[in-house]
Amino acid sequence: MLVDRFNRRINYLRLSITDRCNLRCIYCMPPEGERKLRHKEILRYEELLRIVRIAIKLGIKKIRLTGGEPLVRKGVQEFIPMLTALKGLDDVSLTTNGVYLKDNLEMLKAAGIKRINVSLDSLKKLNFQLITRFDYFSKVWEGIEKARDMGFYPIKLNIVIMKGINDNEVLDFGRLAIEQPYHIRFIECMPIGLQANSMAFIPNSEIEKALVDKFGPLIPVSPGQNDGPARRYRFKGGKGEIGFISAISHSFCQDCNRLRLTANGMILPCLLSKGEVNLKGPLRRGCLDEELIEVFLKAVDLKPKCHPLNLDNHQRVHRKMCSVGG
Ligand code: SAM
Repeated sequence: MLVDRFNRRINYLRLSITDRCNLRCIYCMPPEGERKLRHKEILRYEELLRIVRIAIKLGIKKIRLTGGEPLVRKGVQEFIPMLTALKGLDDVSLTTNGVYLKDNLEMLKAAGIKRINVSLDSLKKLNFQLITRFDYFSKVWEGIEKARDMGFYPIKLNIVIMKGINDNEVLDFGRLAIEQPYHIRFIECMPIGLQANSMAFIPNSEIEKALVDKFGPLIPVSPGQNDGPARRYRFKGGKGEIGFISAISHSFCQDCNRLRLTANGMILPCLLSKGEVNLKGPLRRGCLDEELIEVFLKAVDLKPKCHPLNLDNHQRVHRKMCSVGG
């Protein structure tokens, strides 16, 4: 079992399977994109499966696939069923921008994936295009509706609210959580990379106030066993939920249960702190499983008590979200 120096049990691994993305969200990537990893730098699917098998032996129960955009990686339709077929996982889920969601829903359902997170920063076609730099709103929305109709649950919609860009849509998202069974998650923009650093920060408390002023009290929802750091609520009579992920204004590090594996094979003990451990090096040197277990243990040992960012210190993180995954 993986337990860190602060007695936190680590049972959740986020796998970034590619650094490539078919969107260029203004807070995540420059218009021309980032320098791409070369094919041979990215972990192969069989390498990922070996790593996950070892992670399972160490007590990892929950995997989330992310990227880049996981659904753009060639062969992902074959990889996901192989991943979900591994014995010992309680939960495999996917974070996607939704552009290829509709085309992949049958495969995801057949593979046993039930929980999907879609990043959707606007409900308006033009604003979606302004934020993502692509005209794919209708495609994404069709995917979300089809997923709902096929019984995927929960469908979480992740929204990063940015001042002067989509803060005028907070109430539309609130209304959506009343009328539809979606779980709306407001994620505070984290100061990662150059793009995000140029965005004016809005704390989730402001969003919460606007929602309560308009729709009435938010009723707390008790957290489930596999829940992440979101504070969850619903409106009286609402079909869906509202959640707040407030990494900057309300650090939730005391409950952190995760590690991240980047597309090029580095384990990150913490998204918002320096430090990473090279897993790909020993893997490609042909090491035994025991050596890879040591790498996991080292990464867990390096988990800091808390990330260093808060509302006052204006620190920045020099990583690329597209290769780390959110
Ligand atoms: N392509 C997939 C997607 O769109 O969900 C997975 C990768 S994307 C990097 C994962 C999540 O990270 C998205 O929900 C995105 O909004 C979030 N994200 C990226 N940069 C962020 C930042 N600076 N602060 C907060 N969230 C961020």
